[in-house]
Amino acid sequence: MTNDLLLLAMLALVVINFALDTTLDVLNDKSARTTSEPRVSEFYEPDKYKKSIEYGSEKFRFGLLDSTLNFLIILAALSFGWFAVLDNAVRNYLDNELLISLGFIATLGIITSVINLPFALYFTFQIEAKYGFNKTTLKTFITDRIKGTLLSLAIGGPLLATIIYIYQQIPQWFWLIGWALVSSFSLFSFMFGTKIFLPLFNKLQPVAEGELRNEIENYCKSQGYAMSKLYVMDGSRRSTKANAFFSGMGRTKTIVLFDTLIEKLTTPQITAVLAHEIGHYKRKHTLSMFLLSNLQTFALFALLGWLLGNPILSEALGAAQPSFHIGILAFFLLFSPISLILGIIDNALSRRNEFEADKFAIDTYPDSKQHLNAALKTISTDSLANLTPHPWYVKVHYTHPPILERLAKLN
Ligand SMILES: [Zn+2]
Repeated sequence: MTNDLLLLAMLALVVINFALDTTLDVLNDKSARTTSEPRVSEFYEPDKYKKSIEYGSEKFRFGLLDSTLNFLIILAALSFGWFAVLDNAVRNYLDNELLISLGFIATLGIITSVINLPFALYFTFQIEAKYGFNKTTLKTFITDRIKGTLLSLAIGGPLLATIIYIYQQIPQWFWLIGWALVSSFSLFSFMFGTKIFLPLFNKLQPVAEGELRNEIENYCKSQGYAMSKLYVMDGSRRSTKANAFFSGMGRTKTIVLFDTLIEKLTTPQITAVLAHEIGHYKRKHTLSMFLLSNLQTFALFALLGWLLGNPILSEALGAAQPSFHIGILAFFLLFSPISLILGIIDNALSRRNEFEADKFAIDTYPDSKQHLNAALKTISTDSLANLTPHPWYVKVHYTHPPILERLAKLN
């Protein structure tokens, strides 16, 4: 009885989530197409503006197809007890509980990526290519996938196996040790990810000698920031879209500028963007966001420790015997409202940090206001950004402020 109610709750949450997501997408698409914005002409020629609307609408329709398919599959899986079927199938081949959990999760992972592969292909080689953004060759696409899979097997596999083993051996301490393991790994990738993992996919080089390097060097010196922590990355291998980011902390801090950014902007504009990234470091944004996500992981594991051992989770999904993998699946289906709320909080903080980093740039680099203004305009129009996203959509999905809001604050 209780497990039927729990299954109903999961189904209801899946439906509510889908309805909520779809409503936001529809509102956002409508907002982009119908909001009249007097400042549009400062950004786009009429033709390019039309193109930006079409690009947004095409991504919206594509996303709707993708999310509807995923929604229907999860709905069917819950209604027809497919997770229990898969659990049984894996148990026919394996008899060790640890291997059964790993086998189940791996099979589910493979099924998910097979379903999502055509969508990823279509997005990269049809939509992104049609609007002139895609630079990824099929070869790069395939090797990226292979490398990504191998990397998650090499790192995620042993990490997951250890957590499941601890869950099976000392269930009462699983949540604390599991959290310690996950947070140690995320600390490691936070500190060294750009150094160790990023070069597997991209080439990182120091900024070439010349005018740009001199300007950057002067600015970095004025802020006491080491030039050796600054790289240019071949983002142009995959896309024409420009970007820059900050990662790590202390001695492992790193700023990465995409070559596409350097290509599109002038020297003072690039330096103003760099000043913004250094602002993230100086204002301790990356560190505080890292600590926050760690705190959230702690709460998540505490909840897991409390609920995961309850056989009702596995029963609700129709599994004959309780297990780590079925329990955790049920847990995450029930956890979705909390993760939505956490996401909204994280995004709000992240958008606030962007304003702060802009302010840092203005305070520390001469004429930043004008240069950052021009840089942000170029970056957003070049990527056909939506000038009028729906405010609710922004709250749920935007880690950066919408461009008009950001420029208004800047000025
Ligand atoms: Zn930023």
